[in-house]
Amino acid sequence: MNDCIFCMIINNKIPSKKVYENEKVLAFEDIAPQAPIHVIIIPKVHVLESIEDITKENVSIISEIMLAAKKVAKIKGVSQNGYRLINNCGKGAGQTVNHLHFHFIAGKDLGEKIV
Ligand code: 5GP
Ligand code: ZN
Repeated sequence: MNDCIFCMIINNKIPSKKVYENEKVLAFEDIAPQAPIHVIIIPKVHVLESIEDITKENVSIISEIMLAAKKVAKIKGVSQNGYRLINNCGKGAGQTVNHLHFHFIAGKDLGEKIV
């Protein structure tokens, strides 16, 4: 998608601080971190705008994202202490970028648990 910010990051059209990548997924630092560690994990292809687009055929990308989250945890040194993965699905949940993504947040100040 030409006008998708995350696709532009994938294609190096706009810069990002990459944390981890493999052939399927990319993890990079959020530009406006909401926690001491705030990484965005995305599929490298823009087939899914949100969880609402997941089907039996493409659901394996979620496994890839979860495996990448473990890698990010190791890279950031928080595997033992813990971390939180958040997905905002749709406008009502506050999703602003329509390219499927998970927020990986960790660090001292994670804020209150709401669930
Ligand atoms: P959402 O609100 O859709 O759940 O999350 C979108 C996230 O993307 C936000 O946390 C926002 O700070 C981040 N973001 C938006 N534009 C950019 C950008 O150009 N670069 C990076 N690294 N993060 C971005
Ligand atoms: Zn995209």
